[in-house]
Amino acid sequence: MNSESLLRSIREKSADTEFYLPLPAGYKPGATRYVVVFGTVMSGLGKGIFSSSLAKCLQDKGLTVAPIKLEGYLNIDSGTLSPYRHGEVFVLDDGTECDMDLGTYERALDQNVGRLNFVTSGQIFRRVLDRERTGGYLGRDVQMIPHVTGEVKNSLRELAVASRADVVFVEIGGTVGDVENAYIIEAMRQLAFEEGQRSVCFVALTYVMEPNILGEQKSKPAQLGIRRLMEMGIQPHIITCRAGNPVQQNVREKIALFSNVPPERVYSMHDCDSVYLIPDMLRGAGCDREVIEWLQLEERVDDAAERKAREQWMEYISRLRSVTRQVQIGITGKYTSVRDAYASIIKSFEHAGTALGCNVQLQWIETSELKPDEVAEALEGVHGIVVPGAFGTRGAEGKIACLHHARTTGLPVLGICYGFQMAVIEYARNVCGMEDANSTEIDSECRYPVISTLPEQRKIEKLGGTMRLGGQDANTRAGTLAREMFGKRVRLRFRHRYEVDPRYVEKLEAGGMVFSGQAVGEDIQNILELPRDVHPYYVGTQAHPELTSRPLRPHPLFLGLVDAAIRRAYPDYDTPLTYRPDGDEENDESEPARPEHQHTD
Ligand code: GLN
Repeated sequence: MNSESLLRSIREKSADTEFYLPLPAGYKPGATRYVVVFGTVMSGLGKGIFSSSLAKCLQDKGLTVAPIKLEGYLNIDSGTLSPYRHGEVFVLDDGTECDMDLGTYERALDQNVGRLNFVTSGQIFRRVLDRERTGGYLGRDVQMIPHVTGEVKNSLRELAVASRADVVFVEIGGTVGDVENAYIIEAMRQLAFEEGQRSVCFVALTYVMEPNILGEQKSKPAQLGIRRLMEMGIQPHIITCRAGNPVQQNVREKIALFSNVPPERVYSMHDCDSVYLIPDMLRGAGCDREVIEWLQLEERVDDAAERKAREQWMEYISRLRSVTRQVQIGITGKYTSVRDAYASIIKSFEHAGTALGCNVQLQWIETSELKPDEVAEALEGVHGIVVPGAFGTRGAEGKIACLHHARTTGLPVLGICYGFQMAVIEYARNVCGMEDANSTEIDSECRYPVISTLPEQRKIEKLGGTMRLGGQDANTRAGTLAREMFGKRVRLRFRHRYEVDPRYVEKLEAGGMVFSGQAVGEDIQNILELPRDVHPYYVGTQAHPELTSRPLRPHPLFLGLVDAAIRRAYPDYDTPLTYRPDGDEENDESEPARPEHQHTD
């Protein structure tokens, strides 16, 4: 029986039998294939990096790929998660606040994703409970199987319909054996049965230990992890082994023996110098070909597209390897002990540094306890700083002191979101004579609330999904650096509650601050800068440019900062920086900006 007739027969029966199979309108069985990646043994193996690299290999072959992350936690999204515990909250163009792995997919695939690409247990249960309250289950008792699992499968199929992708690429959050993702794994077992032979490819990521005391690789934890998956009714087709060193043949054979997977489909994914090398490592081992063959997608492969994609990627890698300069950039933050809180900023510097042939070394400068008279010493030796996003009051005065130092000593600066707001406060206090200037987030009673709540935010009481979120267009002002970087219009990504209070804009501009980017149709300042004859690079944005930087399309705001830092470190550096080599002919103010900062393809 093919998948279409199987699905039809289950559906026909589902009203009055044990089956329950919601299918989204327009779903074509067999049109989309699925790759599902499970993590075994332990977390922290780089499942997101592996999955996005494999997804990239498929995309390079000319296939359309729609990634989806299924998270076991009960939060509806990542909006209320602390970056201390979970790493940064990534924001998508449609405003979804999600896990940082979605950022890994957007960067690897150079593709925007949205709400449908991120599903949590919280969302699944909310849908099930809402449906139950409206009588949607026709008198039945609502059960984990088939109703909750049915909702999981439905979310994958919704993405298949909306994306019309060749492959929906599923990453299961957590590790096999967690209570919270057990029902998601069960849903994957059902999916494979319903979609039929060769429609779903199961990939197990596992870990091969090499304890120092033994000095040899041991496969037992890997075997047990995979056995656990098999006990849940999932037979992996491909096993990928994380390890410090290349996984030896005998170890791969042993894993093969215990898991019904031939040794040639047990791959080594050992540590390498750079995550950018992983797609080629997988390709070299034939892992991508194996997925294509298993899913019988050979006919959709475009060899010419693959050659071109590989060439571009290899060029990026060779640039990465041939950097000739080095700069130090300080990140003046408060979550400096948790690097994952700044994952996208770190990536953005890799992209910009690679484009400019420069190794950007990051220095973490904790601002929580930093006093104004300690700033000069703390920033000694850095060639530029980033003042990143934040919430609350802690570390604010330290950041303001860093900005003051940078502004008055010509040290290049990029202020991001909260950092942009702090730059406005510093300027108001020290240049425009508003001594008590502050943000109402920090001091609601201050005399000059130069940063205050967005009008639409005043009515909101709930947290979670209530900020100004996602992609918005901004216009740039003629004659500014922002115009040079972006052309007339640019799409930026946001996550904030506060903004520059419009009442103070005139006064700040009279004092010399240039607001060079404004939200389209709204009185919101999005970009600030100081003229180049006053400061080599003093720029801030209310947006989060780090969320839209891509390896082959570094974000201009980071390029500008790294370029300025190189000039500070190497005074005789004279290579001009061109932000948009092709000019801005097609970048017309009357049209919406393209989804990303790039205006030319
Ligand atoms: N806390 C500030 C606001 O809500 C800045 C937010 C941020 O940096 N993401 O506007």
